[in-house]
Amino acid sequence: MPNRKHKLTRLPSLPTIAIEILQVFGDPDAPIQRVAEIVQADPAMVSKILKAANSSRFGLAREVADLRQAIALMGKAKITPIVLSFSLASESIEDEEHAAHFQRFWLRSFTQATAGEVLGQRFGPAVASEGFTVNLLAGIGQLALLKNGVEQYMGLVDRATEGETPLDELEQEAYGLTNKELSLEMLETSGLPDRCLEAIGGLLPDEEVTPSSEEAVALGKVARVADAFARFLCDSDPGIGMILVQERLKELNVDPELMNDIQTEIREKLAESASLFNIDPSSLPEPEELLEDAMDQLATFTQSMDESRSVPNELLAENGRLKQQVEDLVKQTSTDGLTGIANRAFFDRRLMELTQHCRRRESSMGVVVIDIDRFKSVNDTYGHQAGDHILKQVAQALEGVTRDDETIARYGGEEFCVLLEDAQLEGMTIVGERLRSAVERLPIVFEGQSIPITISVGIATGTPDSKDFGLRLFAEADAALYQAKQTGRNKVVVAAGDLTPGSQVDELQTTD
Ligand code: GH3
Ligand code: MG
Ligand code: MG
Repeated sequence: MPNRKHKLTRLPSLPTIAIEILQVFGDPDAPIQRVAEIVQADPAMVSKILKAANSSRFGLAREVADLRQAIALMGKAKITPIVLSFSLASESIEDEEHAAHFQRFWLRSFTQATAGEVLGQRFGPAVASEGFTVNLLAGIGQLALLKNGVEQYMGLVDRATEGETPLDELEQEAYGLTNKELSLEMLETSGLPDRCLEAIGGLLPDEEVTPSSEEAVALGKVARVADAFARFLCDSDPGIGMILVQERLKELNVDPELMNDIQTEIREKLAESASLFNIDPSSLPEPEELLEDAMDQLATFTQSMDESRSVPNELLAENGRLKQQVEDLVKQTSTDGLTGIANRAFFDRRLMELTQHCRRRESSMGVVVIDIDRFKSVNDTYGHQAGDHILKQVAQALEGVTRDDETIARYGGEEFCVLLEDAQLEGMTIVGERLRSAVERLPIVFEGQSIPITISVGIATGTPDSKDFGLRLFAEADAALYQAKQTGRNKVVVAAGDLTPGSQVDELQTTD
């Protein structure tokens, strides 16, 4: 490994117990009793290990009350990562004044480690143990930089989050090396096996690592996926994290579609570890929220790629391929599987965007809510397959009369929505009629039977005066739709006027 020049006056060191335990971890001949000797020096650590041994996370078949027994039962592969975790955890929460920052980094390191364990399991218990350890250690450079000066380091993290300069570059400028390079440098003399160092080295953006064995190849790939998962789950750019997870799962020969299952497994393991290792996984965003943030970010990138501005280096580096992948992902998670038009998630995003846009421009917008009439009885009469066929036909018909600058989506079940820009109240009846009659005119034939289908349409328009205006407009359009259903179906109801607080549904205008 190259000797890097850094600007730190003194290279931070690992806690004593961590250094000692790493030597045991790296030495296949080190007797397991050595672990007991190391741990015994710290009574608090002894009780933590016993607690861990009896927890569901490491659940041994029977209850143990003796350290040596616990260590013998767990075996070296399991016990060393635990000791290491306890030692780094206490290290990272010592500083009370900045506890929140340390907690955050500790949670990230532990998340990455857990991801390493979950992915490593696919290659057996040895890789699981090393997958955990390697990924836990990959984060120590960051912990060390925090300990070197919390304010200085957090300043860089904040700048990276807000601005366009990646953290790596800011670290390079401030310390002469990145946190990952520092991790490697701190570990080079630790006695950690070469394959572990190579795996950590493989996480550096421009480090050329040639793995020395097959185990090293597997471990390196596991580390790269785990690193991407931590980015996805813990960092401020889940969009890039998501792309990287997908890319790297393929390198590991794992179907990217398993990403969600793997995420669930990581979260479950984290929850089991929470009280033992002083982490709070509930502070991670929920999966749905994360997906939404990631897709928002990717949608922004796809737009800005065309203007090539503020696109992160990682995405530009492999421009063509990744751009395609971003577009595919955006499409995949924005499209309704049955009808091929946009789905609810996409509609919700567009609704928020359009609200902001029209609010800035002080222009009006419109929401159209559409629901197929008596669809339940259509399903009951002609069967579910006929129902699905109809949904596709209706979606196509609606899309056919929707302009390119309007957004049409399947909102769920047999409900569709359209978003309009510059929507004047006067024109709305025409818009609604165009949609309604497009469906009524449809010649729908399924297995030789002709099935007449109609829709009811509710519309509301207005000029946004607040962030949640779009949602209120949606509720107003939905109320208009309800009115259309109540007054006979196959009709358009336009809410009376610009949305004002307290405006009533009974002001609706109806057309047949
Ligand atoms: P209304 O005129 O009041 O809207 O009556 P409706 O029967 O359409 O309303 P309701 O909401 O009670 O029923 C909606 C039905 O749509 C329920 C379900 O049978 C059907 N449906 C929802 N999603 C799908 C789908 O994906 N495929 C099929 N075939 N049917 C669906
Ligand atoms: Mg319905
Ligand atoms: Mg219906």
